[in-house]
Amino acid sequence: MTRNDRTLHYLRQRIPSFECIPGCHDCCGPVTTSSEEMARLPIKSEATHEAALTALSCPHLGCNGCEVYAERPIICRLFGTTKSLPCPHGRGPDRLTEQKVEERALRFLAQTRQVLV
Ligand code: SF4
Ligand code: SF4
Repeated sequence: MTRNDRTLHYLRQRIPSFECIPGCHDCCGPVTTSSEEMARLPIKSEATHEAALTALSCPHLGCNGCEVYAERPIICRLFGTTKSLPCPHGRGPDRLTEQKVEERALRFLAQTRQVLV
């Protein structure tokens, strides 16, 4: 297991999930992720990627929301769980992501090579 894999495991365990408004995907859009996370996502065609980017959307956003929820990138997990990334509709977990976990997530995002999902 690489250092990035260990960090991802740590972050995935500690960023809380929560119930979104059913059908809402207002915070989905073009996002970036590490190559480790990208490798776990299904491969989409170049045309799908281009169409999503043109629409300022994400290639994994389907009619019923995120189609890769269990493997969604760290930035998608973090959204709505910290004071700096609040859900515009006021949704969120009972307890926000701990500050040390948020800081580690932000360091991970800054220090890893990020690719467009
Ligand atoms: S976090 Fe908020 S904006 Fe994003 S999908 Fe959930 S309810 Fe919608
Ligand atoms: S991976 Fe899922 S949660 Fe993240 S932007 Fe795409 S559709 Fe939304």
